[in-house]
Formats: sequence, C-alpha cells, structure tokens
Amino acid sequence: MAKEDLECSFCGRKKAETNILIAGLDAHICDNCIEQAHGIVVEESKQESTKELSKELMLKKPKAIKEFLDSYVIGQEYSKKVMSVAVYNHYKRLLQPDNEDDVQIQKSNIILVGETGTGKTLMAQTISKMLNVPLAIVDATVLTEAGYVGEDVESILTRLMQAADYDLEKAQQGIIFIDEIDKIARKSDNPSITRDVSGEGVQQALLKLLEGTTVNVPPKGGRKHPNQKFIEVDTSNILFIAGGAFDGIQRNISKRLNMQAVGYSVAKAEENFDEENLLQYVTPKDLKEFGLIPEIIGRLPVLTYLNPLDAKTLRAILTEPKNALVKQYTKLFAMDDIALKMTDESLDYIVEKALEYDLGARGLRSLCEAILTDAMFHLPDSGETELIVTKEYAADALDKSSIKQLKAAS
Ligand code: ADP
Repeated sequence: MAKEDLECSFCGRKKAETNILIAGLDAHICDNCIEQAHGIVVEESKQESTKELSKELMLKKPKAIKEFLDSYVIGQEYSKKVMSVAVYNHYKRLLQPDNEDDVQIQKSNIILVGETGTGKTLMAQTISKMLNVPLAIVDATVLTEAGYVGEDVESILTRLMQAADYDLEKAQQGIIFIDEIDKIARKSDNPSITRDVSGEGVQQALLKLLEGTTVNVPPKGGRKHPNQKFIEVDTSNILFIAGGAFDGIQRNISKRLNMQAVGYSVAKAEENFDEENLLQYVTPKDLKEFGLIPEIIGRLPVLTYLNPLDAKTLRAILTEPKNALVKQYTKLFAMDDIALKMTDESLDYIVEKALEYDLGARGLRSLCEAILTDAMFHLPDSGETELIVTKEYAADALDKSSIKQLKAAS
C-alpha cells in the first residue's frame, strides 16, 4: 500500500488528515483516536478505583463500625447504632452496579440533633478515622448565598479537597460534617424579615450538594484568587452529616406529643413521655416546624438524636475513650518521667464542676487544663517523679484560676 493511502483503522481518517498515524502489526491508529481511547481508559479506571475503595470500606459490618465508635464515643448507644447502619448502607450504595435494575439506593445522609458538646462532631470524626476517608468540618453559620459576604456553599468542597490533600478521588468519597445546621433555619415566624439571606437561601444552595452534583471548586477557595483553575468535584458519593442543637425544638416536640396524646385514646394520653429528654422523640416534622425546608430534610433522611451528658457519662469520658483526657495528660507527664495519678475523688470533683458551670464534655478539658497548668509549668525541671492530684489539690488549683476564663474557654 502506498504511504499516502494509509488510514486509521479506528476512524478511517487518511494519513494526511491526521497529525500522527502510528503503525501496529497490521493496523494503524491516529492521534485523535488515541486521545479518545485514553479518555475511556481514565474514566473506566476511575470507576474501578471508586469501587475498589468502597469494597475495602464495606468490609466493616455495622457491628464492627459500632464497636469502633464505642472505643471513642461514650454512651449515645442509639445514635451510634443508627450511624453504623447509615455508613454501611452508604458504602453499599457506592457499590451498586450501574443500571442493573430500577432500584436505585439513595444516599444515607445523616442529621444529628443534640445539645452542644454531646459528641456530634466526635461521631463524624471517628467515622472518618475508621474509614480513613477525608473529613471536612464546616460551620453552617458562615455560609451564605453566592454573592453575599461570607463563604459560598461551594467553599465546603474546597475544605474537603484540602482535607484530602487535593486528591480528587479521595475527596469524592469523603465525609462533610455541617455543624450548626439549625442556625440556617428559616425565620419565617418573624414577619419583619422579608429577605432571608442567611437562612432559606443557604438551605436552597445546600440542596444540590447533598443530593449529588458536579461543582466547579476553586482549590484554594475564596474570591482572592480569581485566576486559579477550577476542579470539578462530584458530590454524589460524599457522605454528609449535619448536626445542630436545635435549641427550643423541645417545645415543638412537646406540643406535638401532647396533641397526639389528646387525639388518641385515653390510654395513649396516659403514656409517659420523658420530659427531661424530649429530643429522643424528634421527627422530621419537628425539624420542618423549626425552620428547615422539607427538601433539606428529605436529603438528610437518617435522623437521630444525642442524649445530654449526665454525671456518669462525663465521668466515663474522662478516663474511658481511647484518647481519654486523663490518658492524654498521663502521657504528657510521662514524657517528663513524671507519673500522674488523679484520684477518683478528684475526677468526681471535675465532673461536678463541669455540670455546675454547665460546661458539658467540652468543659472537662478546660477544667483539667486549669487544674494541671501549674504542675505542667513547674514539674518538668523540678526532679519530681510523681504528681498525685487529689480533690483538694484540684479545688485549690481551680480556685487560683479564674472561673470566668473557664466559661469563656468553653
Ligand atoms: P458537639 O456535639 O458540639 O459537636 P463535640 O463532638 O465537639 O460536640 O464534643 C466536644 C468534646 O467533648 C469532644 O472533643 C469530646 O472529647 C468530648 N465528648 C463529647 N461527647 C462525648 C462522648 N459521648 N464521648 C466521648 N467524648 C465526648
């Protein structure tokens, strides 16, 4: 065959119509077809690696997920169980074969309702640690609709990319924890607000992200780098966990429960509700009444609650989790060859103070810090080999520190 008669065996272009025509054993391929084929290979291997990763993650059954949570999160049995199942189902969904049948497993995004400091963020952190997937923690209160001062909703994905070290594949299988979701509730009860910049608009903007969409993300975030290249991030396999305290939602729950009780039989009316912890009865309807739009609620289908922390739980949090506070301080002192011993009475005292100041679990840290700072300053070069913290020692150290400061630190 004459040289000029050679053609691409894939698209039929003549040699003259191509930039490069590469010869094989008894076929030829042009630069155009090489590029197309390369695209297909990249796309295929992407899908494969997504499936591979999901398969690895799927190895953990719900009970194993819960066991892992148990070693970091004290109490909260119900939400740990719900979370374990949701996470398991999430990775099952990623493994579902494309278009196998009409059944499409939907996303198991989660919403956690619970007072501040009860372990909502900790729960998301622990799940991401267990799965070894990147986690971005974002505060819903800083989000605004595009065009307003504050962060655009897309900035959430910039954070996730940063957490994933700019590995797009990893980011697309990561977890996003949206804190204070209750703060973007619609404030429609207030007739003076005609345009709700911080509330409903942000909820609308979040909708698409939650459901799964492709977003052009500026990798460095913000508007300060107008020339930076965008990265296309697909959110359909990202697990979203939203958390909020929903202060005052108890009133809605209580009203609903009482109405139900009146509406039904006398037997129902006599049913006792645990008035101390009404969050355990929370339903999507209560969230709607609180001001979340129904579409958002629909895209966060797994709803669960966290219990307030009582003295017994706070006491356990001090010593039991894998990286419990007391274990951390023991390690810090041990690095200076000092054996730290905190008596049971001193730990009870810390719990008592945390409850008294209404500092919750977050306060435990501030209290320990206040009690131990002096020793951490003086002991390293003192030649001492032991520190025994008694209740008296703790009370004395705390007296010397300012309680006001403690409150601010929480
Ligand atoms: P929030 O519910 O406000 O997101 P966090 O998860 O940030 O609360 O909890 C604050 C701190 O309190 C955490 O760093 C953790 O050490 C501790 N903590 C809260 N709840 C628990 C819990 N159930 N088990 C163990 N530690 C907890």
